[in-house]
Amino acid sequence: MRVVDLLHYGATQLESAGVEQASLEVELLLGFCLEKNRTGLFLAATDEVDERHEQQFLSLLARRSKYEPSAYILGEKEFWSLPFLVTPDVLIPRPETEFLLETVLALNKNEQWQPDLVLDLCCGSGVIAIILALETGRSVTAVDISAPALQVARRNAIRHQVADRLALVQADLFSAFSPRHIFGLVVSNPPYVSRQELRDRLQPEVMHFEPHLALDGGVDGLDIIQRIRMTLPRVLKPGGDFFMEIGADQGLAVMQLFSGDDTGEKIFERVEVLQDYSGRDRVLHARMAT
Ligand code: GLN
Repeated sequence: MRVVDLLHYGATQLESAGVEQASLEVELLLGFCLEKNRTGLFLAATDEVDERHEQQFLSLLARRSKYEPSAYILGEKEFWSLPFLVTPDVLIPRPETEFLLETVLALNKNEQWQPDLVLDLCCGSGVIAIILALETGRSVTAVDISAPALQVARRNAIRHQVADRLALVQADLFSAFSPRHIFGLVVSNPPYVSRQELRDRLQPEVMHFEPHLALDGGVDGLDIIQRIRMTLPRVLKPGGDFFMEIGADQGLAVMQLFSGDDTGEKIFERVEVLQDYSGRDRVLHARMAT
């Protein structure tokens, strides 16, 4: 078949399987097989595709029709305009996390912020740590509980040439660090999806293929966030900043959690929830009191 016929056939297949953005997805898959970008595919629209590439495309198409995400099929996902390796051991990086990073880096610009030690908590594929290392030129520590996820982060760090500035630590949240207020900046995209959402609402791509370890935030989605809130003050420096991605319906709950002080003293001097470009609560920013 010709390129244009395969694109058409693929889009029809994916549409009938109920896959969203079918045309775009098909272009990704065929482009991968033929090593062409979108423009390249259109320029080659009437070219015949040889048997081997056609078979390869059809087998990828069959996987996508069963809701396997393209990022896992292709082994790669673009984030912050850079290609990152992804495997089913890590969450596929999302635009929400780009917003988290933009927020962190904007503060860096506006406030001449000079954090000495930077931590990416629950790093997964390492996108946050690696972008922070690239954009700020600093060394970054990245923690995850999953050893296979850390392997992916390591390969991404090598790929983007920041491996010498990235310390990867396998640990449950802050358990690897002594309580000595060491970090000037902590950034995190923890698991925050509630059990019910995990059961009912998530797309089949997420539900059946992405690691639940990276998503499952317990009954109300706040289990891990609560644990972070309890232990964060032991490792964050006075005046240090904490940024965390949250679910769109968690703004109020995290505001309360971080504004409340259990000892009568103010632990955080500035607590705010920031909205993403679609106007939904997305990032918590808390600054440790000085
Ligand atoms: N935003 C992700 C989702 O809805 C969840 C990410 C997370 O739990 N950290 O699939």
